[in-house]
Amino acid sequence: MLKELLDHTDISVTQGYYRVSLQRKREAIKVMSRYVQDRSGESRAGSSGSTAGYELRSVAVPFGNCIEPSNVKAGGKQCPIRFQCAGCGFYRPDPSCLPAIEEHINALKADRETAAAMGVDDFVTRNLDDQAAAFTQVAATMRERLQALPDDERCEVEQASAVLRKVRAGRAHKLLPLTVKDSA
Ligand code: SF4
Repeated sequence: MLKELLDHTDISVTQGYYRVSLQRKREAIKVMSRYVQDRSGESRAGSSGSTAGYELRSVAVPFGNCIEPSNVKAGGKQCPIRFQCAGCGFYRPDPSCLPAIEEHINALKADRETAAAMGVDDFVTRNLDDQAAAFTQVAATMRERLQALPDDERCEVEQASAVLRKVRAGRAHKLLPLTVKDSA
């Protein structure tokens, strides 16, 4: 029970913290919706910066968000092409995903070295190379865009990113959507 986890004797205090937490998440999503891009680096920002534009029809996947309808319906667990997101038109990453993307690039490179040492067929190493290159391009475009922002705006994005990463970490490996039902 949340009240017990937070060790609050007064349930109203617990509810207060929970509301703040939801509010922070909502605000973070609203900020982040302005910086969503696709795999080519084209902006896919919601026109109003609303939470709906960012999440209502998307689901969190390991390196960003996915808008592929069947995968969204399955809560992010049924990617038809094994999460090769950087090559997929349904991929919608945002700056909060940057550390996960960079971690994945490193993992792909390490896998590539292992594969080469195993003497696998060329198509295996080619695929790993191509994926690493595609994710590297996604991350580079995102970083470029962030660098071009005024300091206060970049700071706002970094704070919102930290909130969303915390939300995801709290749902470790469950790949649940960050959907916020918000009519605003
Ligand atoms: S590869 Fe495409 S369909 Fe699969 S999770 Fe990534 S964005 Fe979604």
